[in-house]
Amino acid sequence: RQAAFRTDLSVLLDQVGAGKESLSFMKRRIRRLTQQWATAANRLDAKLEQRWRDQKKILVHVGFLTEESGDVFSPKVLKGGPLGEMVQWADILTALHVLGHNLKISMSVKELQGFLGVPPGRGSCPLTGPLPFDLIYTDYHGLQQMKQHMGLSLKKHKCHIRVIDTFGTEPAYNHEEYATLHGYRTNWGYWNLNARQYMTMFPHTPDNSFMGFVSEELNETEKRSIQQNKVNNMAVVYGKEASMWKQGKEGFLQILHRYMEVHGTVYYETQRPPEVPAFVKNHGLLPQHELQQLLRKAKLFIGFGFPYEGPAPLEAIANGCIFLQPKFHPPHSSLNHEFFRGKPTSREVFSQHPYAEQYIGRPHVMTVDYNNSLEFDSAIREIMRMEVEPYLPYEYTCEGMLERVHAYIQHQDFCAPEPPFISANLSRQGSAGGSRMMGPLFVPQPNSTALSWASNVTAPTAWPPLSSLRLLVSQEGQSCVESCQSAGFICEPAHFRFINNKEALHGLEVQCEVVDSEINHILPAFSVVRRECGLQREPLLFSCAGRSPKYRRLCPCRDFRHGQVALCRDCL
Ligand code: UDP
Repeated sequence: RQAAFRTDLSVLLDQVGAGKESLSFMKRRIRRLTQQWATAANRLDAKLEQRWRDQKKILVHVGFLTEESGDVFSPKVLKGGPLGEMVQWADILTALHVLGHNLKISMSVKELQGFLGVPPGRGSCPLTGPLPFDLIYTDYHGLQQMKQHMGLSLKKHKCHIRVIDTFGTEPAYNHEEYATLHGYRTNWGYWNLNARQYMTMFPHTPDNSFMGFVSEELNETEKRSIQQNKVNNMAVVYGKEASMWKQGKEGFLQILHRYMEVHGTVYYETQRPPEVPAFVKNHGLLPQHELQQLLRKAKLFIGFGFPYEGPAPLEAIANGCIFLQPKFHPPHSSLNHEFFRGKPTSREVFSQHPYAEQYIGRPHVMTVDYNNSLEFDSAIREIMRMEVEPYLPYEYTCEGMLERVHAYIQHQDFCAPEPPFISANLSRQGSAGGSRMMGPLFVPQPNSTALSWASNVTAPTAWPPLSSLRLLVSQEGQSCVESCQSAGFICEPAHFRFINNKEALHGLEVQCEVVDSEINHILPAFSVVRRECGLQREPLLFSCAGRSPKYRRLCPCRDFRHGQVALCRDCL
């Protein structure tokens, strides 16, 4: 069946259910954004020009909100607890509904069992028939619950699963045996999924798919009125829980207070939280729409280093604030920071909100060293002099999210049998010889004369399409994430299978004395010193994130759309 866009959200609102603060929060959000979603649906509908879209049967099982997982979030919704997850689930549900799919929502193990058609009780009777869904969106908690209650059949059906995973899971942590043998085992990873089945909140490692969420978009009239009503010396502090204000914040708060009126939205019960200095005007935790109003007046939204990578800075920037945040030196990661410890990623975080820093940047985002009071002081003064317009990256608009989720649903297929590695038949002339020891090596593209791709490369179903592939060689110690990025591309894990072959190595005129095929998440790669080249034997371990000081990696990069990094030019 063909999916038709929906602009009426009332059926969805009924489906979400009631009786918990988390659900009320999500419903308020869905209601508030109804008009934005409708406009976006109409725009995307026009853009896709009647293209056929399959209507999919989709189950959304929100594991972390089930009683069975302890549901620690719901009671904290009104108390300053994390709301980012709730924001994202509300938006995922809305996007799937608006795109016109056949949606079932489960928030308990009982509902899950009902929808899957497994008899209640623990794992004794696994699902025997076909899976009644094309796609299942869940989280790590939900995955665990499915394992318990679907038994062995989970393995058979897991290609249909998508895991909403805020911070992401790198391939080395996802491969059970490899993770166990090489010290990448955590509480979360080891599900042996295709890493693109994990969907993140921000575009972290492209090994995972970027799901995201939305932020409110302003029309021109609203933008103008915001700019006229900005209060130049008004700052709002990012951090709704008192603990985020603890320790070492007095110094720069004092400096900030020298120039600006400082506002907070810190949750409190009866008394002012002692962590919040007296000069701060604390509004208490605000409903989302009231926070937006506050941000519309404020000039500055300032982060204290925690929480990491939440939605609020995007909302602030969309409302015309400048986001000021601390640089982390050394970077925070699962090796040195409690928050990231045990998370299935080695990613290093160089500031509180890396997306804001890398994808938005000045003038909307300023990232400075808070330990340097001179630098901090001059940043504040500069911000007061600056004029910025409200800005929201396309990928965080309703239309952008619909476009991306549409593309994933229509094109990502992890159930098709993995084709054998395809040799892209890279020609030998395509070398950049001497530059091998410097910078990333750029290999000319298929249609250029230097590199002729054989016409017998049959990958008609490849998505992203093969036309987006750009082969690069990283420097030693550099990951493909960095290597592609530094050349203005993005690493595309789906393309690894086209470059994991001897022809690719030959094409680069790499002097291989040996070419081995091994199980190692750094491969394909080569060692210049030892003249050793290695190809990947385990497709689950193709990894953009991997790096090793001794190896230069072969990197499958691709182009991307401005403001929609998840999609290549020909990806729609
Ligand atoms: N938020 C809110 N009221 C407040 C402060 C924040 O409703 O007083 C909302 C905000 O609009 C954002 C969400 O909380 O959409 C999550 O914000 P944050 O960036 O703090 O991320 P978290 O750590 O909660 O995941």
